[in-house]
Amino acid sequence: MTVKIHYSAHTRHWANWIPALTAAFAEAGLDVQLTTDADDPDSFDYMVHSPDGPVSDFKPFANLRAVLSTWAGVENIVHNETLHAPLVRMVDPGMIEGMVEWVTAHVLRHHINLDGLLLNEEGKWLKHLSPPLARNRTVAMLGLGNLGKACAKSLINLNFNVVGWSGSKKKIAGMECATGIDGLHGAISQADFAVLLLPLTSETENIFDEERFSRMKDGAVLLNVGRGGLIDDEALLSALDSGKLRNATLDVFRQEPLPPRHPFYRHPGVTVSPHIASETRPATASKVIAENIARDLQGLPPMNLVDKRRGY
Ligand code: NAP
Repeated sequence: MTVKIHYSAHTRHWANWIPALTAAFAEAGLDVQLTTDADDPDSFDYMVHSPDGPVSDFKPFANLRAVLSTWAGVENIVHNETLHAPLVRMVDPGMIEGMVEWVTAHVLRHHINLDGLLLNEEGKWLKHLSPPLARNRTVAMLGLGNLGKACAKSLINLNFNVVGWSGSKKKIAGMECATGIDGLHGAISQADFAVLLLPLTSETENIFDEERFSRMKDGAVLLNVGRGGLIDDEALLSALDSGKLRNATLDVFRQEPLPPRHPFYRHPGVTVSPHIASETRPATASKVIAENIARDLQGLPPMNLVDKRRGY
């Protein structure tokens, strides 16, 4: 039986994704008709979906067995009332690898004060005090899912003291894991670096507000790679202005692209990176999509199914 798959994504993705998907479907032994053409929408079995693509009304695609998102964060689609098919989010080994590199690099950057060493415009022989060793620094990893857990492990391997926080209790070798609001406060009150790898849901929106910042250690650094809506922007700017926080390294924002006049661009304590911490890599991600379709065709539950009630 030929499986019909619609690929809905911005045209700029097509050149990388279509060959990667085609190769992955062939490798998985799937007989597939893959098309970007949405004619005859109710004939499609699956949709590979990116939020920047043309489809936001799923009603015409009445017979979908699943929608497979190319994104890990699904806040743009999970509450779409026209979507009744199961929604699968992206867990891509390539994306995990990229996120580990980005988070590890930025934690190390702040740990060894790389900026202070590089930005010596006055040409002074600045004999900085040696930073403490990683073993004397604490990182709070907020979100211990596919990405948070992998980043935590990388930092543990460098000897950082890592404390984690998630919705359900986790057991991860080499670190303490907490849950609940007291667990969150315990983690951030001891952290030199707090990494946000939470999804954006009704429960996590504005989780970093004035009160939360007040509970952080003086001079801490916040790294947000989850979603912009996790942070109250005004409260963050106040925490930076008062010196409560030393730096905020932000990859995600409430509005993307971040508008040119946004104060984050000019604030000396903020690093802006344009939502590039880690992208889905078509070569590895297409294999995950193919595996999921093969599983579904065999009657097995797909991996990484979104719980629409929880929102992630
Ligand atoms: P995931 O596997 O679903 O993990 C999410 C983690 O957050 C889980 O540990 C979950 O707890 C925890 N969590 C969710 N709601 C919570 C709450 N209310 N209280 C406490 N913990 C909560 O997701 P992932 O693949 O690691 O991705 C995380 C997020 O990263 C994505 O949602 C996306 O927004 C963002 N992201 C950003 C980029 C980038 O380039 N900047 C790239 C990819 C993804 P449980 O373990 O109990 O479920």
